[in-house]
Amino acid sequence: MKGKLVVVSGFSGVGKGTVMKRLIEEYDNYALSVSATTRKPRPGEKEGVAYFFKTVEEFEELIAKDELVEYAKYVDNYYGTPKAFVDKMRNEGKDVLLEIEIQGALKIKDKFPDAVLIFITAPSAQVLRERLVGRGTEDEETVNKRLARARQEAEGACKYDYVVVNDVLEECVKTVDIIIKSAHNRTEDNLAIVEEIRRDLSK
Ligand code: 5GP
Repeated sequence: MKGKLVVVSGFSGVGKGTVMKRLIEEYDNYALSVSATTRKPRPGEKEGVAYFFKTVEEFEELIAKDELVEYAKYVDNYYGTPKAFVDKMRNEGKDVLLEIEIQGALKIKDKFPDAVLIFITAPSAQVLRERLVGRGTEDEETVNKRLARARQEAEGACKYDYVVVNDVLEECVKTVDIIIKSAHNRTEDNLAIVEEIRRDLSK
């Protein structure tokens, strides 16, 4: 069976990256898409692991050649999902996890109506602020821009299929896995089996 496209979004600093990492480590049916971005690498971020780091010109060439499933601008930088990896993994039956922001998520829903859209939230604004500042990877101005963006993104959460609170990490990971597994049992994905049985029975 072809793998599903799974979009995971959530406020900056909510711990989406950790949730994704745990899903990949603990279950073997997932593949994590690595995005292209024009953002500068943070300390410790490796080319091809965290992101494919591009110049604006290189990124615009990917757009021109139609090599991205979707792309968006987020706080002054481009981010996009390379097409080739997503297609290959889905054809191998893996569910492909896309950790992307809301504009990209909605483009995916338009193009692939059977994609599963999951929004991860912190239990409160206070926790969100503490996690983002505590991470220490962004300067104060960027933290504030990201919190402002979080306010906007909160309005878009209603367009997602599921909202999961990341309070206790382990529980959040389990819940996201259950949601994705359940999506494989959606009626439209499995009706063919029932239809085949119906045909056989009427022979
Ligand atoms: P960060 O700079 O913190 O790594 O990512 C900033 C935002 O860009 C996050 O919300 C992240 O989910 C989103 N993002 C990462 N890759 C992509 C992508 O390929 N497409 C889109 N639309 N958003 C992305």
